Amino acid sequence: MFTAARSSGGWRLSVVGHHISDRCRPQSVVGRLCSTKPRARSRMSLPRLPAVGSVSPRVLRVLGCNPSFMTLQGTNTYVVGTGQRRILIDAGEPNVPEYIKNLEETMIKYNFQLDHIIISHWHSDHIGGVKNVLDMIANKNECQVWKFNPKIDKKRDYNFPLHFVEDKQKFEVEGATLIIHHTPGHSTDHIVIFLEEDNALFSADCVLGEGTTVFEDLTEYLKSLQLILDLNPTVIFPGHGSVIKVIKIYYVILIKN
Ligand SMILES: [Zn+2]
Repeated sequence: MFTAARSSGGWRLSVVGHHISDRCRPQSVVGRLCSTKPRARSRMSLPRLPAVGSVSPRVLRVLGCNPSFMTLQGTNTYVVGTGQRRILIDAGEPNVPEYIKNLEETMIKYNFQLDHIIISHWHSDHIGGVKNVLDMIANKNECQVWKFNPKIDKKRDYNFPLHFVEDKQKFEVEGATLIIHHTPGHSTDHIVIFLEEDNALFSADCVLGEGTTVFEDLTEYLKSLQLILDLNPTVIFPGHGSVIKVIKIYYVILIKN
């Protein structure tokens, strides 16, 4: 269930679903937790997530090891695919050696390289670790980094080559087909990514696993929620927090006052 309400800090949105992530206990580095414990957000206590875990037969979650009030248990980064060439969705914050080490160990254990890194939006907890990931991998010059270009954004300089995704662009690797959907609201460049084989959605910061998200533009944000409803995923892999198994998805808007 989505609920939107206005608070002193602006509009905030909550999602209620059936959290399943802790059933999907990892197989490797898995079971280990990032060394820094997440702080409770407000009065809500957060479920602990393993540093590396399998959330579907074709998706590994590698926690960004950057827990905080805003990032919950840390940024969820996801490795998608079943073959030797896979896709990384989001790269966490800059300069977090524990995250890079966990990602590197995961690549060795499952014997894959990264062909693409797709970034959900420009916020530092999602794009900040790209340079560190590129510096770690052997195919740094071949791995392509992607993000949506909203055109109205102020120019930002990144310390790596960036390619721009189109709305509805498709990425295919062994075992996985991804479709990009532009979903502004949280930020103008925000995208969600649909995984066809799992009928799953990588929702980034449009929908969180626990608690509320924030947004820049309510009208755009609600349109993006409608788009997610129309995609009708059965599972959501959020940018922060636990995996959500969607049993029934609907939202309620509380108009101000
Ligand atoms: Zn975030």
